[in-house]
Amino acid sequence: MQTETTLVGVTRGGKTWIPQFVQAIDRERCIGCGRCYKICGREVLNLVERETESEDEEAENMVMAVVNPDNCIGCEACAKVCPKKCYTHAPLGA
Ligand code: SF4
Ligand code: SF4
Repeated sequence: MQTETTLVGVTRGGKTWIPQFVQAIDRERCIGCGRCYKICGREVLNLVERETESEDEEAENMVMAVVNPDNCIGCEACAKVCPKKCYTHAPLGA
């Protein structure tokens, strides 16, 4: 029988912490500034073309996406630098 448990980490100083893994990016809020991409050291994120209904929209209209979710270590640096509060995070097993 499989039971779900929350992953608990430990700091260098021995304090416990619970990694908060990236769940989603709010595409309506994202302005494609790239700050989160630059701060993430795990290659989880990348800019992709925003899907638009209008063909008149600018071609360079980009939005951030979670492209490698399995690489995330749950550090929350992306959320900390995001000026538009696009991110949702959750512990593993929650
Ligand atoms: S939580 Fe950390 S590892 Fe995960 S996407 Fe954000 S910056 Fe990258
Ligand atoms: S920091 Fe926020 S607004 Fe900027 S690209 Fe990342 S998710 Fe979008």
